[in-house]
Amino acid sequence: MVVEFWGVRGSIPSPGPDTVEYGGNTSCIAIRYGEHNGLIVVDAGTGIKRLGDHLVAQELPHGAIRARLFLTHTHWDHIMGFPFFTPIFIPGSEIDVYGPVTHEQETIEQIIGLQLSYRYFPVRQTELAATIRYHELKEQSFELPDGMRVTTKFLNHPVLCLGYRFDYNGKSVTTVYDNEPFRNLFPVDPHDPDYDPALAEEGEEAAEEQNEQLREFYRGSDLLIHDSQYTLQEYLKNRIGWGHSPFEFAINSAHKAEVDSLVFFHHDPLRSDQELRDLLDGYRAMIKGKTLVKLIVAQEQDRLTV
Ligand SMILES: [Zn+2]
Ligand SMILES: [Zn+2]
Repeated sequence: MVVEFWGVRGSIPSPGPDTVEYGGNTSCIAIRYGEHNGLIVVDAGTGIKRLGDHLVAQELPHGAIRARLFLTHTHWDHIMGFPFFTPIFIPGSEIDVYGPVTHEQETIEQIIGLQLSYRYFPVRQTELAATIRYHELKEQSFELPDGMRVTTKFLNHPVLCLGYRFDYNGKSVTTVYDNEPFRNLFPVDPHDPDYDPALAEEGEEAAEEQNEQLREFYRGSDLLIHDSQYTLQEYLKNRIGWGHSPFEFAINSAHKAEVDSLVFFHHDPLRSDQELRDLLDGYRAMIKGKTLVKLIVAQEQDRLTV
């Protein structure tokens, strides 16, 4: 498998002099695999615009574009590039869109389609020339042509959000974003009037069990692309409940799950290139001699072979 990063940023596109190196586009990852050069795309953040233009320039001359797009969830930063994905306007393109069902009982097609209405965009969904099929996913495992197995797992985020594990030819790539560590929902401070020692302990065990189940999902992955929007210090200060992970949690979890390479992903929009470089150096020094996990910072236009 070859993994290409077209957008690595979280929350909002962040172009500018401080993000030139790692990139300012929001989530979009392409995975190529197999003898037919199968194309999987994870998320349609703004990075998908350049991917689409690349496909039109490089691949369309050799045949129709065929893609399977897996949406982790429907937050803006993960779908806002879809109306700009040029292949949807080209007759003959075939695009299968997969994503989690939502608690509002709307279909993926309706949510994506809402972006393609005159209120937001000059072209309506009914005018798209490509063949687009929508598939709603829960926790399940299924096979795509050429032996690619896809397994899904719900993550901890304010809206239904899926992690994807792609297993092909003995190798695996897993995405775990947007995701926050499961945590104890009961008060743990004995001074809290609602404190109950039994409940506090029960909550602690439940959270740990859920985190362990998630680690099982990506156990042994060759490449784990994990949410790392915050440092632990930032997270604990005032970002608990926002649906994202600290670097330290990602490193610790990747180590426990015996992951080969951990890719930091969904960078905070305010995180500069210099800060990302410094954080990577710092975490590499921190884990030296303690774990075999390799640390990588996701970078736009980077290609990793698995
Ligand atoms: Zn996001
Ligand atoms: Zn989100």
